[in-house]
Order: sequence, then C-alpha cells, then structure tokens
Amino acid sequence: MKKILEDLREIDAGMVCAALAERRCYASDASQVEGLADYVVRPESTQQVSRILRLCSEENIPVTARGSGTGLSGGASPICGGIVLDLSGMNRIIEIDSENLQVIVEPGVIHEKLNMALKPFGFFFPPDPGSSAMCTIGGMIANNSSGMRSVKYGTTRSYVLDLEVVLADGRVIHTGSKVLKSVAGYDLTRLFVGSEGTLGIITRAGLRVAPLPLARKLVLASFEETETAGRAVIMVFSSGITPSACEILDRTTLKVLKLCDPNLALPDDGDLILFEVDGTDSSTAESALQIQELLGPLAKSVRIASGQKEMEAIWAARRLVGAAISRLDPNRTRIYIGEDVGVPIKEIPSLIKRVQQITTKLDLPAMKYGHIGDGNLHVALFIDVMNSDQWGKLELAADRIHRAALELSGTVSSEHGIGLARAQYMPLQVGEDALNVMRSIKKALDPKNILNPGKMGL
Ligand SMILES: Cc1cc2nc3c(=O)[nH]c(=O)nc-3n(C[C@H](O)[C@H](O)[C@H](O)COP(=O)(O)OP(=O)(O)OC[C@H]3O[C@@H](n4cnc5c(N)ncnc54)[C@H](O)[C@@H]3O)c2cc1C
Repeated sequence: MKKILEDLREIDAGMVCAALAERRCYASDASQVEGLADYVVRPESTQQVSRILRLCSEENIPVTARGSGTGLSGGASPICGGIVLDLSGMNRIIEIDSENLQVIVEPGVIHEKLNMALKPFGFFFPPDPGSSAMCTIGGMIANNSSGMRSVKYGTTRSYVLDLEVVLADGRVIHTGSKVLKSVAGYDLTRLFVGSEGTLGIITRAGLRVAPLPLARKLVLASFEETETAGRAVIMVFSSGITPSACEILDRTTLKVLKLCDPNLALPDDGDLILFEVDGTDSSTAESALQIQELLGPLAKSVRIASGQKEMEAIWAARRLVGAAISRLDPNRTRIYIGEDVGVPIKEIPSLIKRVQQITTKLDLPAMKYGHIGDGNLHVALFIDVMNSDQWGKLELAADRIHRAALELSGTVSSEHGIGLARAQYMPLQVGEDALNVMRSIKKALDPKNILNPGKMGL
C-alpha cells in the first residue's frame, strides 16, 4: 500500500490524504451504509482521474466516486476500502451556450449554483432534488436524480446530451455530442446515467437547459380519503393539464410542516395535494382556476395560494420536511430506509393504505409524502435509535414496504438509487436474466470490478 500512496502522490502530492480522521468523514453518505477507504483522493482534472484509474486498475484497487455524499442508498460509501475519489473540486461551469440551450459543466458543480448561474440568461436545469443546495451534477447524473418538477420536466436523464467518462482502465471517452438528436449506435449516454459510479467516472457533462417559466401558481386541495386524493390527481391529468409539481402530504406530514412554519395556512387533517402550474401569467391563472373548479366537488377544501410569498413559504417548508420529522418527537430519528418506493399513479392510494397497515401493525410512526404525480412515495420511518427492538421493526417495515411496491407493479427506488441499501431487491425488481445482462455490461467495461464494487446487486 505504501507504494500506491507514493504513486498517487506522484500524480499530485496535494490531492491524496491517508489520515484516519479524514477517511472517517468519507465513510458514508446520507444513508446508514458505511465503509472505510484507505485513501481520499481529490483530483482536479480529467487527466488526473485517468492516471488514477489506470493505476488502480493495474493494482486492483477499488474506487468509489463521490460528489457531495448526499446519496440515500450508500452509493458513495466505500464498502470495499480502496480509494474514495472526491470529485467535488472539479466544479467549473465551462460554458453556458445559451443560443444552443445547453451548458458544459464539470461533475462537482452544485445543482443550485448551476441554476444561479443560468438565471441571468433566463434558463434553468429542471431536475430539482430536495438536496439542490448540496448535491453535485455528477452525483445527479450517476443517480439519475429528480424531484418535485419531474412530473412535467422529466428526470436528469432527459437533459444529458454528452458525457466525458473515464473508464476503469483510464481510457477517456465521449458518449454524445452537442446535437439535440442523434442516433449513432448504442446510447452510451443513457447507459452511464443512473450507473451509480459502477461503469466509469463522469468528468464532464453537456446538459440541455430549459427556459425559466414566467409565472407559477399553486393550488392546495385537501381530501378526507386517500383514495379520493388519488382520483383527483388522475382527473387533473385527464383534463389535459400537466402540473409542474404534484405533491401529496399526509396528516402527519402536515403536522410537521406546521411545526417548521406555524404561519402556514394549511388544513388540519386529511391528505393535502399541492398542484403547481407554470407558464405565463394568463396560462397559469387559467389552469389554476380550472383545477380548483375540477376538484371542488371531490375535495374537503380547495384554494389557490394567495401569491408568490405564500407559495414560496409552502415550498420552503415542503423541502425541509424530510429532515424536520424529529420535531414531532425529539427522542426519535428518521432513518432513510424503504423511503423511495414508486408505483403506477393509479396504485398510489393502495400503496399508501398498505404502508399504513404495515406501520400500524408494527406500531411504528411514519410520515408519508411524495411526488404523487410520478407515483413516488417517500415513507419517513422514525425510531428511537437506542432501542434495538425498534431497529428490528424498522427493517421489517422497510422490507414489507419494498415488497408491497413490487407487488403493485412498482419500483423499490424512484429516484434515490440502489447502492447497497436496496441491492437485495435487484433480482426481484429486474429479474435474474436482466440482472445478468447488467453484470455482462459491467464486466465488459470494468473487468476487474474496481468501480464501486459491491453495489447495485451486480
Ligand atoms: C435532504 C436530502 C434530500 C434529497 N432529495 C432528493 C430528491 O428530491 N430527489 C432525488 O433524486 N434525490 C434526493 N436526495 C438524494 C441525493 O441528494 C441525490 O441522489 C444526489 O443527486 C446525490 O448527489 P451527490 O453529489 O451527493 O452524490 P453522492 O452521494 O456523492 O454519490 C451518489 C452516487 O453517484 C456516484 N457518483 C458521484 N459522482 C460521480 C461521478 N462524477 N462519476 C461517476 N459516479 C459518480 C457515487 O459513486 C454514488 O454512487 C436527497 C438527499 C438528501 C440528503
């Protein structure tokens, strides 16, 4: 190992660290998955990444790529040791090509910073994870992240035009171009999107951007029964309106939101659905009114948010809610497990009912919220972490929630990825044959299995 340290330092002495304290800081992401790397390496250029990978390939050293470590599946946790490749320092916005509606960035650019840089040009990068202020574009591409606006704008995948990728043996390839449409061979860009650092290291990305909408409006509709809430969503979609966000918040979530911001004028009980529409002043006013009229006969209450200020306050609280749950009970902590299931939208009410039954039976409190327009439900289970009995119940609940989603033709992860946290469900999720195809692809690109080994059930 001493030899490796010398070789890495020869590439750039300042980029390598072997101190235990620092390695501990890189042991996990935002999930419970942990592992200890032998070295933390912070490259600053594609050439350095290429030299590092060539060396690691020759010496069979595992390499775990890391952006900001906000992942919720253990993707950036170095479970096999080796090196953690911290790409957060490669954070330049290389080009804003507004005429072609695209940007070229390094992987360490923070999502929110990209949007701040695009704003004066009248553009934005639409995928919008709740972690926008922290997560990197590289991490978003590797996880195919999305969020509240994917119901209208799609996921990260829809915006990636070209990637510069360093392969396991150090070769550097480009997967696309600046052209918006191209059918030249296999779609390697899409192969790398969502590959969670198992196939190559993304060192540069060409991304499509979208014009910033001129106006937004928010409709708040509350429902006595979850089934009715589910029907309401289908009614809105069937009416020809595509909301720019469509979020469900259950009763417990509403309580937490009010603890976050007591000034919010939210209903006291029932399930709340937030429908946001974007466009021009007149189109949003018309669509919001149409939703209000459409849902009047179904909803317990329905109203249009009073203006920009109220809308921003509601969205700010909504973004905090996942982490704010412990305000309900300071003796309990939210554990991110079973938190990202998805089903076809028609099945959302059934999924919510199943989750309710599972958590009630195990006597575990849970908050349920999510992107109902995509069928993506975030279940926040929270426990007393000092109580081993509760850990057992937590794992049982998460397992049953994952299986319930699969039984409803759904997915164990709509946006957070597989990593290690959900790897055990891969055979059930995709089937053995498809999983074997994935293993063949992995073997072709990374024959020594040095890139993020042990992840995604590969
Ligand atoms: C409070 C909070 C809210 C969140 N909300 C959302 C949400 O709304 N929607 C959503 O989709 N996710 C959400 N997430 C999860 C997470 O933020 C996203 O998955 C995010 O895109 C991860 O980015 P990161 O830079 O932190 O990546 P990391 O966690 O560092 O890494 C994620 C994966 O990408 C790989 N990777 C990172 N960089 C590269 C690279 N350059 N090349 C190859 N592989 C790479 C890593 O190996 C790992 O497998 C949330 C997380 C938190 C903590």
